[in-house]
Amino acid sequence: MLPGLKSNVNALFLDRDGVVNELVKQNGLYRSPRTAEEFRLIPGLVQFVRGLKNAGYLPVIVSNQPEIARGLVTRETVDSFHGRIEAEADIHHFYVCYHDNDTGCDCRKPKPGLIFQAAADLNIDLHNSVLVGDREKDMMAAQSAGVQAFLWGNHSVQGYENFNDFRELAGTIVSLATFNAKTEILGVNLYSDSLSSAVAAVVQFAKHKVGKPNRCISATGAHGLVVSRSQPYFHQLLNSFCLNLPDGMPAVWLGKLKGARKMQRCYGPVFFELVMRYSASTGIKHFLCGGKDGVADELRRVCELKFSNVNCVGTFSPPFRQMSQQEFESLGNRITLSNADIVWIGLSTPKQEFFAATLAPYVTSRFIVTVGAAFDFHTGRVKQAPKVVQTLGMEWLFRLLMEPRRLWKRYFTIVPLFIYYNLIELLNGQFFVTKTEEDYSA
Ligand SMILES: [Zn+2]
Repeated sequence: MLPGLKSNVNALFLDRDGVVNELVKQNGLYRSPRTAEEFRLIPGLVQFVRGLKNAGYLPVIVSNQPEIARGLVTRETVDSFHGRIEAEADIHHFYVCYHDNDTGCDCRKPKPGLIFQAAADLNIDLHNSVLVGDREKDMMAAQSAGVQAFLWGNHSVQGYENFNDFRELAGTIVSLATFNAKTEILGVNLYSDSLSSAVAAVVQFAKHKVGKPNRCISATGAHGLVVSRSQPYFHQLLNSFCLNLPDGMPAVWLGKLKGARKMQRCYGPVFFELVMRYSASTGIKHFLCGGKDGVADELRRVCELKFSNVNCVGTFSPPFRQMSQQEFESLGNRITLSNADIVWIGLSTPKQEFFAATLAPYVTSRFIVTVGAAFDFHTGRVKQAPKVVQTLGMEWLFRLLMEPRRLWKRYFTIVPLFIYYNLIELLNGQFFVTKTEEDYSA
């Protein structure tokens, strides 16, 4: 790829033996097929590839085939297998290492050479590509190339969950794009797709334990964006999160102005409720951390009674003061022992975002989500604005009227600043040219 040229192809890298075609069992061991009779595509593969092509992924085979060098199969036979893959599964790109173990070539997996070669030839965006393999060497090659790997079949590899169902795998891969749908508002990457996609992606990733652990998600509104302007560290922190959900309407309007057509409000309390409802039957475990004394326990009961979710495995009400590193560590141990997949943090902004980031090194959950108002809203401590008020983006006014003493100061600085900062951006011509990755899946 030439420097400066935008790469635009997302690849579906596929290992061949055991992923595309069946392995052959001989003397209790599995090996590659060597004859036309032995060569069979795995059931469901053709539909899987077709589905991902429709979602914008280019299928590319990356395969070690050392058996030619070992004299166990001829090049003609291997080529005929690839001809069948081409005809039956509509896959047209093959990157194959024909060397044996000891030649020290750069293409043999676990080295990433085949992936890099394909990326150079086909203008592939590795960051948004995926690999499906059935062995550790596949996972390692993907990791070296910066490609998200998925483990197919029954062979176990540490750190990877096994997929045995092509539909589940396709659903998870497609969810990946959700985490890349972003648009910049006041320099913060805000999520720019629909609420339902965000819920589905988080549930899918938590269910299959895919992706890096402890990825932080925030629900950020005008308040958080304004704070990020005056606190560079908070700004950096938000941009290190895997998702910043637009908590309020104003950011969504700005996102749409910047071309993020599908951008939707993902209000923290609603996101929380939908994930709770949607994950109720999946076995995903939740840990609730936040609110004043007893609020987290009350929220757990709300989840059971209202959202039919009985998988809250622990609660914690943080003290009002700063917690020490030791306290974070012991909380982290508690959460890890509970096997929680999603940790929900409900404090104020920016306290909750710092809390999530400080906690992250001590836990092994999938996601840590800061949802602020969700704790007080769902336990009935704060009255929720009527739907029409929410849609009009006037929730701040409603909340101000409900709690004037606590909130007036916040709003009378935030609202003017939010408008002011965005006007500056507008006047500087930062609108309409800002990059958006919203169309990335098209
Ligand atoms: Zn090689």
